[in-house]
Amino acid sequence: MRKNDRMAFARTASREEENPLDCLIIGAGPAGLTAAIYLARFRLKIAIVDAGKSRAAMIPRTHNHAGFPGGISGKELLERMREQALTFGAEITPGLVEGLDRKKDLFLANAGDAVFQARSVLLATGVVNNPPSMAPQIHDAAIAGGQLRYCPICDGFEVTDKRIAVIGTRAHGVNEAVFLRMYSPDITLIAPDGNHVLSADEQSLLADAGIAVLDGPCGGLRLEGERIVVQVRGDTLSFETIYPALGSVIQSELALMLGADATPEGCLVIDRHQRTSVAGLYAAGDVVKGLDQISHAMGEASVAAITIRNDLTKQRRLYR
Ligand SMILES: Cc1cc2nc3c(=O)[nH]c(=O)nc-3n(C[C@H](O)[C@H](O)[C@H](O)COP(=O)(O)OP(=O)(O)OC[C@H]3O[C@@H](n4cnc5c(N)ncnc54)[C@H](O)[C@@H]3O)c2cc1C
Repeated sequence: MRKNDRMAFARTASREEENPLDCLIIGAGPAGLTAAIYLARFRLKIAIVDAGKSRAAMIPRTHNHAGFPGGISGKELLERMREQALTFGAEITPGLVEGLDRKKDLFLANAGDAVFQARSVLLATGVVNNPPSMAPQIHDAAIAGGQLRYCPICDGFEVTDKRIAVIGTRAHGVNEAVFLRMYSPDITLIAPDGNHVLSADEQSLLADAGIAVLDGPCGGLRLEGERIVVQVRGDTLSFETIYPALGSVIQSELALMLGADATPEGCLVIDRHQRTSVAGLYAAGDVVKGLDQISHAMGEASVAAITIRNDLTKQRRLYR
């Protein structure tokens, strides 16, 4: 935040000082919405701000989320959770939180013209997958059709015995290819940019698993009927599904600005109760180091919500 913005921000916020939120939730994916349901039912004063880019909204149909034997689309799951949160009085403001600051023991957050002042903040901002180089509309159509997938744990089962490519290299690419080998004998690991960077151990692991290894660069991904094709060093290769293993951008900047501990990649480090290293700042879901799954995001968010309630009670800050 620039200095002038910061001063204006602090001035606006001070007008609301008398009546701060108990908790500001940033992000309304599975983590943020679960926390909202819990905290609203604890009768805490909360607000949720969401930029509307939940990874869950990209899921054409999840089949590993318990309770839905026929599967459920990510959009529908989010809609149901949102409706549940609203039922108990939660309010969701669309917007991007651009700044998060502390003034004494209150947090100040701004999203466009809106300013929020809160005793605690839950960061549930998720991650963004790095896509392979391809046109966004082709990318989205390929996700919807299942020709492009980002999560073998989630949907490897759906590609059993299919012809699969993984775009990636090093440990991440190797682990993803080896994981998918449980599902199909036809796996190709393609380096995204140039030659593969693989240790002798990794090379022998891939060879033992019968995984084909191709140097890149690769690009020009497009759909061809039910399949997805990719150009690899002048050759056109066709697959039923491609998994990019190109890493993610962790949406943790707001916490990092406040000095929260994180891994070198930017995943927030938390204690057993979802507290970050900054007092009053909690985190749940993909933004936290650990498994990136809906059920895990929900579990972490429920722990965070209970911790927030308990911590505020200990500070005698919930009695009105
Ligand atoms: C294609 C695909 C398929 C998947 N399939 C499955 C599956 O079958 N099963 C499964 O368990 N998992 C699946 N996942 C993973 C699952 O989607 C994530 O684990 C889950 O969405 C994480 O929830 P979250 O709430 O932490 O983050 P998200 O759902 O990503 O939500 C984060 C929210 O925070 C918002 N946000 C970020 N920064 C800000 C900010 N500064 N201000 C305001 N809002 C902000 C974002 O816009 C977003 O709405 C899949 C993921 C993908 C991409």
